[in-house]
Parts: sequence; C-alpha cells; structure tokens
Amino acid sequence: MSTVITNIGELATNDPDRDGLLGLVTDAAVVVEGSRIAWVGPAAEAPDADVRVDAGGRAVVPGFVDSHSHLVFAGDRSAEFEARMTGQPYTAGGIRTTVAKTRAATDEQLTSHVARLVAEMRAQGTTSLEIKSGYGLSVHDEARSLAVARQFTDETTFLGAHVVPADTTPEDYVDLVTGPMLAAAAPHARWIDVFCEDGAFDVDQARTILAAGSDIGLRGRLHANQLTYGGGVRLACELGLVAVDHCTFLSALDVESLRDSGTIATLLPGVEFSTRQPYPDARGLLDAGVRVALASDCNPGSCFTSSMALCIALAVREMRMSPAEALHAATAMGAAALDRDDVGVLAPGKAADLVLLDAPSYVHLAYRPGVPLVAGVWQHGRPVVPG
Ligand SMILES: [Zn+2]
Repeated sequence: MSTVITNIGELATNDPDRDGLLGLVTDAAVVVEGSRIAWVGPAAEAPDADVRVDAGGRAVVPGFVDSHSHLVFAGDRSAEFEARMTGQPYTAGGIRTTVAKTRAATDEQLTSHVARLVAEMRAQGTTSLEIKSGYGLSVHDEARSLAVARQFTDETTFLGAHVVPADTTPEDYVDLVTGPMLAAAAPHARWIDVFCEDGAFDVDQARTILAAGSDIGLRGRLHANQLTYGGGVRLACELGLVAVDHCTFLSALDVESLRDSGTIATLLPGVEFSTRQPYPDARGLLDAGVRVALASDCNPGSCFTSSMALCIALAVREMRMSPAEALHAATAMGAAALDRDDVGVLAPGKAADLVLLDAPSYVHLAYRPGVPLVAGVWQHGRPVVPG
C-alpha cells in the first residue's frame, strides 16, 4: 500500500543532495510505499498513491533518532532529584539504588515499564532508539535487561561497566564484566559501553572492557568526560569509536582528537538541565569541525526526560546550536552515532520514519519549548500516532 503525505509547508529531509544542512523542500510531498520512502519532492509533481494525507501546510521532519537511553530499570528516584534541586550534588553512586530495584523486578515488570517509555518517546516523535543495560550488574540481570531491550530495538548496548557494585572490588568486577557477564550479554547486544569517569571506571579499565567486547564482535561506545576532565574522550578517538557520549568537560586536545578521528560527540543536554551542571560547548565543537549528535540519556537518575524536542530546545537556548544544527543532530547525526544510514534522512529508499509537526516550521521545536507539537508519527511507514 502507498501513501502520499502532501501539502507539507516545510519538509526537512536531511538529504545531502539537497540545499542546506536540512535539505529543506517547501510545498512538498512524500510518498511512502510499505516501510520505505518512494518519492520526495514538490507537492505539485507528486505521483498518485492509495491513501492521501493532507498536512495542511504544516512542517514534516525525520523521526528523531535517540542514540542514548537507559530504559531498562525499576523504581523511582524523584526524591533524589528533589534533594539535588535543593542543594545536594549528583554522584555516580545513585545508580546503585536503581540496581537494587531492577534486580527485584520480574521480567514482565521490566518489559511493561520499557514499553510504556518507548510509547512515550514515540508519541513525541522518536522513531529509532538505542537502549542500554546497566542496572543489573550481575550476569543474570545484565543478560535479562538486554533481552528485554531487544524486544524494542536492535540497537542494544551492554553497559555492565556502569558502576562497580557495592559487594565486589573493581578488579574482580572488571574480570566478571569481561568474562561471564559479557558472554551472557553478547547474544542480546550490538554495542558495548563503559561509564569512564571518576567513581566509575578509569581509562585502562575502559580500554580492557572495550577490547573484550570487540573480540567477540560488539562495537564500542563510551560515556566520558561528563563530570570532570579525563582521558575517556581521547580513548574513544584513539580506538576510532563511532561515538563518545556526554563530552561536557573537554580540553583543547580532546576537541582536536574528536575533529581528527571523526568520532561523533553525542551531547546530552537534558543531563546538565536536570543536574545543574555546565552545558557542553556545542558551539565550540561545531566551529572546530567536530561532528555533534543530540540524545536524551533518558534514565531514572541524572535525566528522566524522553523528549528529543526538549534536547533540541536546550541545544539552541543553552549551547548555541542553530535550530537547523540541533534538528540535524537529533536525527541524521543520531543515526550516524549508531552507524545507521537507513534512518534520519527522508529520501527514496530510506525508512519511512516521519513526524508531522503542528507548526509551520521545524524552528518551532526550539521556539516553543515544552509545547507538544507532534501531530503525527509514521514509523517504518505505519502511522503510529494519528496524523
Ligand atoms: Zn548514559
């Protein structure tokens, strides 16, 4: 079955064969066949289709690609957030409180919780997402966390190296993560990740863990330079990882390494918003020629938002990205950060993942922060939010 979405006032395609960063087309139409895009161009030239959807002059953008989330967890940490907002700093140890709740939850409870969050994301325009483990921290609980995540996305990441559990030493835990835990997790994961930070894992431990993952075919990603300066970002660049996430505290050498390696800096401004940390220097990174993506980092501790539109608004308001750069970073660059070229771009042959905005322009995503602007979502050609 084919569908033509026509009378699109402004269409952001991210197609590099079109003009500008976003490849904008005005008075546009998109034809969808099955799960793929069949045609993009001026509405007046659009071919016929079985179903016709009138966008009413509103804007259409690619579905958001959220390349960093921690959705498999149980429990609530709103009290910790309230404490932090009234003067207590965030420390990595807060993760352990979620670990206890996650271990105590059944598979069914974890699955229904992830399903609820994925639906929440989809309703806000996210059509592709990555989900990490990292609140199990035992062989059994990491493997089942990833099995739960796999029901919702192919982009699953083993993050056994999130924090060292209270009942073991860092040395013993790295042995566990790189041995039996990795073996149990690998069948359910595409990626391996390490929280490389003071209070979590140092650069040498991160190198060891990523190498063990690489040996059995998992691709590396890294949480680095979130809370302080350190060698995590340079390790990611040295290893040629596709993306390194957070990048809040960067030296001039870190920025040079990112530029030279092509490793994408995935910025997670919802974290800084929710922890009152300084924001990453997105403007400086872009001006230096670094590739930048935006993601939510949706997690129960440091940032419990699932809204990519909020991330775009923060990137524009707080990090001096242009509205076009921010949308591109939340779509095409999110896809690049997952090494995917089938999503994040609206062009023939690509996945039909589209968002109809209740606005005349994509700029409204930043211009109208906090306003629910998503009027329709198509995921692989299927209308999942009524347009
Ligand atoms: Zn994270």
